[in-house]
Amino acid sequence: MELFDAYRHCRLCPRRCGTDRTRGENKGFCGETGELRIAYVGPHFGEEPPLTGTRGSGTVFFSGCSLRCSFCQNHQISHDGIGRKFSCQELAEALKDLAVRTRVHNLNFVTPDHFLPHLERTVELIRQEGVPTPIMLNLSGYQSIEFLKISSGFTDIYLPDYKYSESRLAALLSSCPDYPRKALDAITEMVKQKGFLDAQCEGAIASKGVLARHLILPGHVENSINAITNLYLEFGSELPLSLMSQYQPLKEHKDASLNRRISIEEFERVYGHCLDLGFENLFIQFPEDNCLSVDGRSAFVPDFTSSTPFYFPGHSSVDNDGGGLLKKSHSSDFH
Ligand code: SF4
Repeated sequence: MELFDAYRHCRLCPRRCGTDRTRGENKGFCGETGELRIAYVGPHFGEEPPLTGTRGSGTVFFSGCSLRCSFCQNHQISHDGIGRKFSCQELAEALKDLAVRTRVHNLNFVTPDHFLPHLERTVELIRQEGVPTPIMLNLSGYQSIEFLKISSGFTDIYLPDYKYSESRLAALLSSCPDYPRKALDAITEMVKQKGFLDAQCEGAIASKGVLARHLILPGHVENSINAITNLYLEFGSELPLSLMSQYQPLKEHKDASLNRRISIEEFERVYGHCLDLGFENLFIQFPEDNCLSVDGRSAFVPDFTSSTPFYFPGHSSVDNDGGGLLKKSHSSDFH
């Protein structure tokens, strides 16, 4: 079957909603038709050090999302659908420019699942142009094995979230009660394909492998503790893991605990658990680093209506999909 035919009865993500995205304005749960739409293409410096390096990561933020978490920090694109149409050729040219002129360390597709056929075609085009830059899929963790079997052919680095250990919470916040098992199975497949991230020492730049992320949600520390335990039991302490504390409420939530930032105590409980389990390749976003703001705007809340959605002091761009001020963990950092 021609890959673009997948849009006719779409089962690209585990929701398998079967929408015919080729018919007019038909959209699936992800909110997108079969036409590629993108909110932002550009370099940024907010990912983990082996991914950001010195020249940044070349990001592509796609419109829509197959997960659509109620607390999404990129709600303008995941829920509101901000973005414009792109052809594969146009995206390939923008990526070639990032790779050749800006010399970013990787090309970073952020939550791109619902556009898999366009991804495959675009990577084919840039490889034909001789661009060797590693391709990274920056994922929600809610991916099917079928998706990953296809993405394996053109992907070098996987950057998956593991958001929920609790089915109840996954159902409440992302309408996917099967997330905990589906995401563990997906990350297992990613590790089977690419191994752990290959940049282990200070200053090294990643070219291949898997780095898992977890965002701590306020009021849900047990979800985080159990998520970290699940990752440890499944992959051991060598799994490269990134612990994030940047959550901030962007709207009023029914769950009152989501209407605040995480507390230092919540962060320390989860961070302490990572240290107790002995994770050897840990990246940490410390809460005290999350308070920066520019003109009253948090550095971690992008504005996709602006030509420079991300701002970070000292750099031209930063994303908030999970990175930002991430440091390699040392036990002395724990206080
Ligand atoms: S990618 Fe979108 S249309 Fe396709 S199955 Fe998932 S939610 Fe449905």
